[in-house]
Amino acid sequence: MTKYQPIIGLEIHVELKTQSKMFCGCSANHFRVEPNSHCCPVCLGLPGALPVPNRKAIEYAVMAGLSLHCQVAPFSKFDRKNYFYPDLPKGYQISQYDLPLCSEGTLEGVRIRRVHLEEDTAKLVHQTVGDNKVTLVDFNRAGVPLMEIVTEPDIRDAPQAKIFLKNLQRNIRYLDISDCDMEKGSMRLEINISINKFPKFRLPDYKVEIKNLNSFKFVEKAINFEIVRQTEIIKTGKQPIQETRGWSEAKQATFSQRVKEEAQDYRYFPEPDLPPLRWDEKAIERIRKMLPETPEQRIIRFVKNYQLSEYNAQILVAAKQRADFYEECVKLGKKFKIKAKEIANNIINKKVDVSNMNAGQFVKSLVGKKSRTSITPSKLEEIIDQVLSENQKAVEDFKKGKRTAVEFLLGQVMKVSRGQVDSLLVRQQLLKKLI
Ligand code: ZN
Ligand code: MN
Repeated sequence: MTKYQPIIGLEIHVELKTQSKMFCGCSANHFRVEPNSHCCPVCLGLPGALPVPNRKAIEYAVMAGLSLHCQVAPFSKFDRKNYFYPDLPKGYQISQYDLPLCSEGTLEGVRIRRVHLEEDTAKLVHQTVGDNKVTLVDFNRAGVPLMEIVTEPDIRDAPQAKIFLKNLQRNIRYLDISDCDMEKGSMRLEINISINKFPKFRLPDYKVEIKNLNSFKFVEKAINFEIVRQTEIIKTGKQPIQETRGWSEAKQATFSQRVKEEAQDYRYFPEPDLPPLRWDEKAIERIRKMLPETPEQRIIRFVKNYQLSEYNAQILVAAKQRADFYEECVKLGKKFKIKAKEIANNIINKKVDVSNMNAGQFVKSLVGKKSRTSITPSKLEEIIDQVLSENQKAVEDFKKGKRTAVEFLLGQVMKVSRGQVDSLLVRQQLLKKLI
């Protein structure tokens, strides 16, 4: 029996793919653009500037909430989360505190505590200018819509966390509301982890936060490392300290970043410049109708309609682009009587890079292959014999040592068979007969 039980919760920040920022009309695109080119008095936090909420961002967050089987709050509001940091021009972040937009959802058996909306901070860029190490601030990211998803502490180990996160990423990408690209920072991960002494279940009265994890691999490693580290401390009769830690890939270990004496006081209060959000059943239904087919539904449909194994359906559906490509090929393949199952096998076994492939070309290549293999070996032999008897001169040339004569004969066979044979196979057969 396990004596020590990990208690793990996740916090995920996702940048929403809207045209404009959360509370102003500035472009929300901040990747590889001239620093500080997408800002205005609102997202720079200048005095007197008033925020206007982005309707699309709110709809996107509700879409995410519904897809996670959450309740959409009939009444919610924005709050100010006050803290001082150079990347926060106003001195507070507009977020949601006690009344989040969505709550009580579930994914992969993990309960979702809440889904709320907030604004991203500016980006600090550390550089050396001349001999000085300086920190520059790029406000292009300030005010970009950010969705925060918080789970209940229902996760028990690293593999479970990874499966949950991969599915979450896939589902959000299917909604087409975020790239969820961890390298670009449009999906950011945080873990809360503590260890409970089995068999009595209770939430430990401490927790360790691990921040700034930008890959699923790091999440896995950080969880495994913390389970060992915290269990060792508990075994000596002590309790791990409540703190924020980071992951060092170089050291393959977590390290202490800051120890919180007590929960930080953000002095939350309702944002006075924004009206509360109200959602009635009709409005929620309108968004529900906008939801596309979920990956889970698509897997079921693939198995049923295309006679795929669940395993293959899962591989295809894991990336929306690949699944879309597959369905396009199935449609085109029908004309040539290529089975949906055969197309799936070809995409999966050849690990086709669908971002560089046109569905029409791919289907054509399958048609070619199909007719090539449709010529029987005896038919091929017949063609070869015919070509050899009609081209005695080339045969003699070959026997005299002119190896290139075989290329001519190969060309003749390809011509007679209208290219419907595998040239490698033909060359082999020809040589067998000539030598
Ligand atoms: Zn702005
Ligand atoms: Mn947040």
